[in-house]
Amino acid sequence: MAISAVMPVFARTDIVFDRGEGAWLIAADGRRFLDFAAGVAVNSLGHVHPHLVAKLKEQADKLWHCSNLYRVAGQEKVAGRLVANSFADTVFFCNSGAEAMECALKVARRYHQAQGAKEKHRVITARGAFHGRTLATISAGGQEKHLEGFAPKVEGFDQVALGNLNEARAAVTSQTAAVVVEPVQGEGGILPCDPDYLRGLRAMADEFGLLLIFDEVQTGMGRTGKLFAYEWSGVTPDVMALAKGLGGGFPVGACLATERAARFMTPGSHGSTFGGNPLAMAAADAVLDVMLAPGFFEGVNAAAAKLWLGVRTVAAKYPKVFAEVRGKGLMIGLKCVGPNGDMVARLMANGLLTVAAGDNVVRLVPPLIIGDAEIKAAVAIIEKSAAELAAA
Ligand SMILES: *Cc1c(COP(=O)(O)O)cnc(C)c1O
Repeated sequence: MAISAVMPVFARTDIVFDRGEGAWLIAADGRRFLDFAAGVAVNSLGHVHPHLVAKLKEQADKLWHCSNLYRVAGQEKVAGRLVANSFADTVFFCNSGAEAMECALKVARRYHQAQGAKEKHRVITARGAFHGRTLATISAGGQEKHLEGFAPKVEGFDQVALGNLNEARAAVTSQTAAVVVEPVQGEGGILPCDPDYLRGLRAMADEFGLLLIFDEVQTGMGRTGKLFAYEWSGVTPDVMALAKGLGGGFPVGACLATERAARFMTPGSHGSTFGGNPLAMAAADAVLDVMLAPGFFEGVNAAAAKLWLGVRTVAAKYPKVFAEVRGKGLMIGLKCVGPNGDMVARLMANGLLTVAAGDNVVRLVPPLIIGDAEIKAAVAIIEKSAAELAAA
């Protein structure tokens, strides 16, 4: 057999990490890396955060899983906290971002179809978007590289240019149910939406009776310096998908919605075996304990300001290496002049883990708890790597 036991769908770097400590990852061979990839924006509070470890261990000794056939106390608590701190009235728990988006798309179809508008199923999405790897979410994302070999596409997605309100409005038909956008497009290359664009989409949704869905799987849970990125714009969606940072490394996804949008999501209409199990809820609840504590976001924004200053200074010094710095909070994109993969590899060789994104971008998505020394160390590695690549 030539195929590896692990299905080879990832082009993996040849390294095995053995343990983590805050913003650091330690490889099995002892090498230490500053982790500005954070499991692709998942380890929101770094590795082995003491409060998360304590809460998860406490729950592990009591109850791991029990069915959604019964009330789950942790779900009621976490849902209550998410509702109290967002636009939403209700929350569905699942295990990943793609599932959270699937739920959001189902909420949108059902909202219209339960009211008799059987034709309404189409969803307007943005070019370059990423919403997950299920059949519906690769169709929503519309990227050829994700769709190849998986035809036929799930029908009903209309893609428009990100940021172009006229194009979005022109795409609305009598069959349109919803519009989906990432407030900062993540995998597409860290492209923040202008607040006016989000306001325009809100107005468009209201005018045509569509649901506005925000995919905050990557931007949510403090990544941009507020609990949810939409808070920067003041625009609230009808439905929102969360996942990545929500469990701090434990797989948890959530679909949040207003009562109006979700009122037809009645018993039997949707479900998940594992979604919102007690272990997952203990993790999410512990993450919220930390993020909702007074001063947490001041700390995130102060760290972000320092990191931005550092990377902007390096980028200005090496214009032949970096074309642009963009993003929001601790979600920073460094658009490269040369191949972004070369920069990711060079940074790693120098001890800094980052993630490539679309549009030739290197993503910095560190744990939200990074301190001054780690920011300084990361900026020094970025500078060293830029100098090496500029000289190459
Ligand atoms: C990562 C991501 C997803 C998919 O999440 P999975 O947990 O991998 O299914 C969806 N939307 C956005 C914006 C993401 O960044």
